[in-house]
Amino acid sequence: MLINSSTDPPARPPTKTTTLDDERPHSRGAKSLFSKYERVKDPIVSQFISSIPDSFPDAIDRMLEIINNNTSSSYSPPPPVNDSILNNRVKLQEAISKFHSEAGTMTKAVSNSIVLLKDPSTKLFVSIHQPNLFAYSGVFKKIVLLQTLKNEVEKKEKENQREEGRGEKMEQRGAGWGGEEEGKDLTNKKIVNLFLIVDHDFMDGWIRLALLPSVKHSLGRLELRLPVSTSEKWQMASNMPVPGQTVLNYWRKQITSWIRKNSASSLISSASNKSYIHDNFEQFWQEVELSCSKAKSYSDFNSFLMSQIVNKVWGYDTLFVRLTEMSSVFADGFGYLISNFNRYSDALRKAESMFLHHGVDTGVSASSYLNAPVWLHCKCGGKASVKIYEKELLIQQQEQRRRAVVEEREDLPLQQQKEEKKVQKQIILKGTCLSCKSDLQINLGNTHTLELLKEEHVLRQLSPRAIPILLLLSRDLGVTCYASGTGGSMDYTVVGSIAFKELSINMPSLTLVWPSRDVYHGIGQLEALELVELTKQSDVMPYLQSLKQKDAEYGDKIRPLIEERNRRLKSGKSIETLLLELFNLKEEQRKIRRLIKITYKVKNAVEMSPCFVDYAVNFGMANTQIQWRGHLLNNENSLAAPILMMTGAIPTTSTTTATTK
Ligand SMILES: [Zn+2]
Repeated sequence: MLINSSTDPPARPPTKTTTLDDERPHSRGAKSLFSKYERVKDPIVSQFISSIPDSFPDAIDRMLEIINNNTSSSYSPPPPVNDSILNNRVKLQEAISKFHSEAGTMTKAVSNSIVLLKDPSTKLFVSIHQPNLFAYSGVFKKIVLLQTLKNEVEKKEKENQREEGRGEKMEQRGAGWGGEEEGKDLTNKKIVNLFLIVDHDFMDGWIRLALLPSVKHSLGRLELRLPVSTSEKWQMASNMPVPGQTVLNYWRKQITSWIRKNSASSLISSASNKSYIHDNFEQFWQEVELSCSKAKSYSDFNSFLMSQIVNKVWGYDTLFVRLTEMSSVFADGFGYLISNFNRYSDALRKAESMFLHHGVDTGVSASSYLNAPVWLHCKCGGKASVKIYEKELLIQQQEQRRRAVVEEREDLPLQQQKEEKKVQKQIILKGTCLSCKSDLQINLGNTHTLELLKEEHVLRQLSPRAIPILLLLSRDLGVTCYASGTGGSMDYTVVGSIAFKELSINMPSLTLVWPSRDVYHGIGQLEALELVELTKQSDVMPYLQSLKQKDAEYGDKIRPLIEERNRRLKSGKSIETLLLELFNLKEEQRKIRRLIKITYKVKNAVEMSPCFVDYAVNFGMANTQIQWRGHLLNNENSLAAPILMMTGAIPTTSTTTATTK
């Protein structure tokens, strides 16, 4: 029986990937996330979903098949790296180098990795995300997933080639040949792991909000947020200023107070635990201050911090790049999508109506097919959603000829002067800036040549919308492996898969998703559990159920008493003893309902997806990566299986019992 709605759980934040179903993740593979799309029974979509690996070993095997062009493989081979792609990768090198130089993360490994982009045999692994404030684990885990896959595939390839090399060498020796030099890097299959920062996103929602579990706060969470004015919400993150020292100090105060309050838990009250947590936080905050000192925009602050952790603390050779600096890389792709806009738009419209027809909410705006595949940036720092128009414009002939007209034929009749001009069909993008509401428009040039789209000042004002990002990455950079998120980006990937087919663009050979939930008892989670005297996360739901059961039982007892009271009142009988009994029962029920309310808060606190601060504090930055990678390498289970993470200095009694169900 359900209780009254005041104790219903609050709405979940959109980035949250856990649902009640995640309580039983073992029974569900990574594919199951896509199950809503299977309903449409579209062969392209079904094929796409079935191609998603369920486990990490599965992902390695499939990638080896793809890389080696195994003919038995059911996967499309990686797109051939033609001159155009290679040319774009060289442009990409510049944008990447700029980012890492400015972030101060141009490590040896990073610069080696940048060089590989010039090599046509290099395979590109890509993940993308907005530069969120202290991003939650899902963002970092995409990078860990791709980097671990890259390392494993490269290791296996090296082993294979060493074996082949040994075989060949023996043959050569047999034929009287001298051996090749030892220790030479045998593999010619290099992989670059690229993280694309979607820094043109608006300053609304999750980009400026970070959560920590805190049962003492409403909804069971502490919110760190960047304050912005209403007009700033429609600014692009890349144009927002760096958070000032006051804001930074305020966040620091919020977090240290959160640590202090939550460390009161009896399980972490020892001095060594407290200093461990304190040291972890101080190390993390040094990186925060460092990133802030180097950054010139809000998005850079967050992405520099990510790069600092990934490239410096973890030592990864993952490359970072800002989407707003990739327009020249996508120049050809923009032209392609705009020239083929009708096909592109039709494909999106068909996809959307197909999903709608089957009652599937894709989360992709229903009218998205009407919009141009690019945003148009505004001088104010915002951007406009634009539509494509074809316009007949009177274009002057070449400048010199025009001048000649003016100088030599000045006294010719007007009619003849006009003949030197030519009516041309031009492509115009037009829309209204969402921030300052100005009308914006830009001319891309002749319908057939779009010659203005090649100009730097035009390109700089454009950036791709969500669905085209993956299309452009695949078409213009040749992506072999793409790590999708579990939220909105997954919807875009599925809808995009249909557009890919329609436009004959190769999708990445492999799409991966790692929807695992991290299960651990950090200070915030322990504090929450202690409040209801539970020791592990998996006890919360049964406890909540038992409370609801009790509430219902009280209801069953109270109802007949109320009926009896009404009867007695009508017949004028005494109700005193009955009222006392009723009062006591109601008082007990109120207590239960209060507990239910608290338990919902506890449930929110232990089930939420906290920001990276929670990991940095409880595990330390380096140890977080070690545990995630370790889970991938030592786990044959589904990529959806929960990760039981061990907090450092906290006694492991409760963490070890944090079992899966
Ligand atoms: Zn504007």
